[in-house]
Amino acid sequence: MGYSKDIYRLAYEQLEQKRERNKQELERRKQEIEQKIPEYRTARLQLFSLIEEGVRMVSEKRGHLTGTEIKEMANSLECKKRDLLVQNGYPANYLDDIYDCSVCRDTGFVMDRMCTCLDKILRDTAYNQSSIKYILDVQDISDFRLDYYDSYEKNGYPSSRSNMERILAVSKQFIECFDQPAEKSLLFSGSTGLGKTFLSSCVAREILGREHSVFYQTAAKIIDIIEDYKFYRKEAKYDIENAMENIYQSDLLIIDDLGTEARTTYSISAIFEIVNTRLLNHKKMIINSNLGLRDMEQIYTTRLTSRFIGSFHLCEFYGEDIRLLKALK
Ligand SMILES: [Zn+2]
Repeated sequence: MGYSKDIYRLAYEQLEQKRERNKQELERRKQEIEQKIPEYRTARLQLFSLIEEGVRMVSEKRGHLTGTEIKEMANSLECKKRDLLVQNGYPANYLDDIYDCSVCRDTGFVMDRMCTCLDKILRDTAYNQSSIKYILDVQDISDFRLDYYDSYEKNGYPSSRSNMERILAVSKQFIECFDQPAEKSLLFSGSTGLGKTFLSSCVAREILGREHSVFYQTAAKIIDIIEDYKFYRKEAKYDIENAMENIYQSDLLIIDDLGTEARTTYSISAIFEIVNTRLLNHKKMIINSNLGLRDMEQIYTTRLTSRFIGSFHLCEFYGEDIRLLKALK
């Protein structure tokens, strides 16, 4: 679905703020220089009257200077201004227009193409909006560290490292095939501290980088949103409507901590309804849960787990607590 209007609006506001901030900074610098270097002010005023002279000469065809003379004098005054800056310990371009992005001059566009700086603002804005940044300051998926997982086989199970290699490969496939309706969603299960939230954030970052919308929430928060929506519907609370739209319409929904929400018949059927509706609309999900599939089946019934089995890559995380290992290293 690309970026929402809100994301574009926020991104343009950011560009506008940059231009305004740079304009103010330039104004401040001008005042600073004219206070500190009186000759600079003199040169500027001389240049100004020279330009007036030039205009008069062109429009009234009179004056005691030739066009070439005016040009030469103007050039030498420009040089003088720069020299004065340098002599006083400032960079020669100290009073040039200031841009965060010199390519598009903070307009966001080069000719009719979007500048990379606007593209980045859009991605960052979408990323912040998806609320993942509150969970982790994530790294690139290529930085995912397998060396935290041990390489010993236990009780006939593959080592946690080779298990993670497989999960990482599945996650990369998920990213590459994200646009294909047949590609399955991801179910990350296993105890805390094994990297489920981290890996889902890495995947989210990649998906956002491909101009898709991502919505991240814990299962508990999603249930809150749905209950609020029922309660506030008539008042059309913007935040809640927006969140509801994201739960159903975002290109990728990440439900974190499934199983830690307060469980009621209502919440259980709400979770099923979201998962089922999104699957019917070929919309992808990543679901993180500390529960194993068997526990999930007991809580959420086979209605939900059969959806998981049919339409999700089942990725079971196991091994030692990575957070603990990281803290120890
Ligand atoms: Zn730019």
